[in-house]
Amino acid sequence: MNQPTCAQALATAQTLGLERLDSQLLLLHALGKPFDARAWLLAHDTDELTEEIARHFRALCLRRATGEPLAYIVGSKEFFGLELQVDSRVLVPRPDTETLVQWSLDLLRAPGMPPTPEILDLGTGSGAIALAIAHSLRAASRQARVVAVDVSADALCVARENARRLGLDMQFIESRWLEKVSGHFDLIASNPPYIASADPHLIALQHEPLAALAAGVDGLDDIRQIIQQAPGHLQPGGWLLLEHGYEQAGAVRDLLAQRGFLQVQSRLDLPGIERCSGGKWLASAA
Ligand code: GLN
Repeated sequence: MNQPTCAQALATAQTLGLERLDSQLLLLHALGKPFDARAWLLAHDTDELTEEIARHFRALCLRRATGEPLAYIVGSKEFFGLELQVDSRVLVPRPDTETLVQWSLDLLRAPGMPPTPEILDLGTGSGAIALAIAHSLRAASRQARVVAVDVSADALCVARENARRLGLDMQFIESRWLEKVSGHFDLIASNPPYIASADPHLIALQHEPLAALAAGVDGLDDIRQIIQQAPGHLQPGGWLLLEHGYEQAGAVRDLLAQRGFLQVQSRLDLPGIERCSGGKWLASAA
């Protein structure tokens, strides 16, 4: 029996409901080619696939058709220019979270920050935020102490492995938020769970760890805990930055202001949504 050509295999994937870009990336993965080889695919429309690759590609497409994230199927996700390995033990890093990283880097470059800042990523998951910050600081020849915390030992395995592959030196702590963390930091950044437990969006995210997504009736349970605990671990002048849901900015700013944070403000993500809020801690004793 003839095997499908690249173009035919892609057309079949679309009949399963896959987006064209996803099916192209899955075909490149099945062919063992890098994701930047999409031009190769276009130029090889009429190449026949081997039976084995055709079968493998179909199996990958079926997984995607059930809603499994592309990143889990191919085992990696690009975040802030880094190739991170991910699987179902961790949330897939989202482009929205690059806003939090960029804000962190802006603050770390601002006057008043120590030359060797201490940075904490709470709920690190794949390590995305901590690794992106550590990588950018290293590229700027800047020393820093970066600590990544997660309550999930499984997530820490993924984050550790990403740090090892990228050659980035950081410390990992298994802790529920700041419970087992000691010391004071110049910056605490976190992308905690923030989806309300009854939010219908969770159904579309069922392949990812629920504990990394849902946070109580209003989605603010973990954010409240972090805002409560963070001042005990911030240097005077240190910043707490939090990612949150698209309609939570006002509530998170209120919580920060009530706790005594100053310069409370929010930042927009690329689609223009208030996606992160943060404030500066000035009091010397929390
Ligand atoms: N931004 C993610 C989503 O809505 C949620 C991430 C999170 O809860 N921290 O898909």
